[in-house]
Amino acid sequence: MSVTAPITQDVHTIPRKLPEGPQNLIGLTREAMRDALIAHGTPEKQAKMRVGQIWQWIYGWGVRDFAEMTNLSKAFRAELAENFVIEIPEVVTRQVSEDGTRKYLVRIAGGHEVEIVYIPEEGRGTLCVSSQVGCTLTCSFCHTGTQKLVRNLTAGEIIGQVLVARDDLGEWPEIGAKNVEGRLLSNIVLMGMGEPLYNFENVRDAMKIAMDPEGIQLSRRRITLSTSGVVPEIARTAEEIGCQLAISFHATTDEVRDKLVPINKKWNLEVLLEALRSYPKVSNSERITFEYVMLHGVNDSDEDAHRLVELIKGIPAKINLIPFNEWPGAPYKRSSNNRIRAFSEIVYNAGYASPVRKPRGEDIMAACGQLKSATERSRKSRKQIEAEAGLS
Ligand code: SAH
Ligand code: SF4
Repeated sequence: MSVTAPITQDVHTIPRKLPEGPQNLIGLTREAMRDALIAHGTPEKQAKMRVGQIWQWIYGWGVRDFAEMTNLSKAFRAELAENFVIEIPEVVTRQVSEDGTRKYLVRIAGGHEVEIVYIPEEGRGTLCVSSQVGCTLTCSFCHTGTQKLVRNLTAGEIIGQVLVARDDLGEWPEIGAKNVEGRLLSNIVLMGMGEPLYNFENVRDAMKIAMDPEGIQLSRRRITLSTSGVVPEIARTAEEIGCQLAISFHATTDEVRDKLVPINKKWNLEVLLEALRSYPKVSNSERITFEYVMLHGVNDSDEDAHRLVELIKGIPAKINLIPFNEWPGAPYKRSSNNRIRAFSEIVYNAGYASPVRKPRGEDIMAACGQLKSATERSRKSRKQIEAEAGLS
């Protein structure tokens, strides 16, 4: 693999004040914004309509300055400016890969940093969004898992990542217009840093904004939440979000999965599969994506492939094979292309789509599972990583 130096650009950043004092409108649910407006004197009868108008300005047209919200009275705009702000995460660095993938490091309140990745593809573009700073889980093949959890992101910080990317892509429509078709940012995957189902409410509220016809206007079929298997929240995801579900499956026996995805010790394969069986019906989605990272000599045998199709029998599914993306100190190696092909064929012959995910943005460490904020200090030692992976 040839690695070329990434083109790194520093983005001009606007100094931001607060967070104490005025309330940030980004990330508030419709109800919360309504209540906030009423608390600051908006008549109850008008509040619902005002929320719709403000949402359109913020999420439909990318406006951050109340003065530009010209269908609101001057007095109301002044009131808004006095009591509220419209703030999104601040871009610290922006890197562009040779394949067009963009990675942003953004700073959020408290000086914490998270990463966002934009992946352009033929006819669509996917934004990989983070839900936590770090992760409490310690999947042994994941770089984020070596970073201690610092905190959950707020709903504003989650949807704010979408606004950051749309700013950078320059794809806000003209005021008053809509650009639902042919968007550069057409899909969202919750596959960045963190376990989204350990931050359920904030993820839900942010995704509601992403799906709202006066919000970002993405169909729920274009939003995919990836979880390591937080079983009690899977049914809630179907009921309260209704997006597509991806599951970090990665192993076909409890013994191996316990090592790779330690949450398996809490909710094992049997319990997990039971929760997955009811997901498509409740969420009215077509199929579940089973993510399966290909680790040399660990989970990539023909027997694994056969066991996998046995296990998921009856679940409408697609199996996404992810060649392991290496990171410094990682205790695994990527399976060979031949092995991945053989595995994929068994799965395919059993009647499942089994695409191999093309690693994107490897030259800027933007590929799946490589994210980890650069400023994070409490790094685990290589020894510790290996011990947790059961390799020493
Ligand atoms: N916490 C969630 C979402 C973030 S990870 C989850 O675990 O599902 C997104 C996907 O990347 C998951 O399937 C994860 O298992 C996978 N992944 C993590 N580290 C990886 C690596 N080094 N190489 C390839 N895939 C990786
Ligand atoms: Fe956390 Fe997902 Fe990485 Fe596991 S794979 S450590 S759940 S981010």
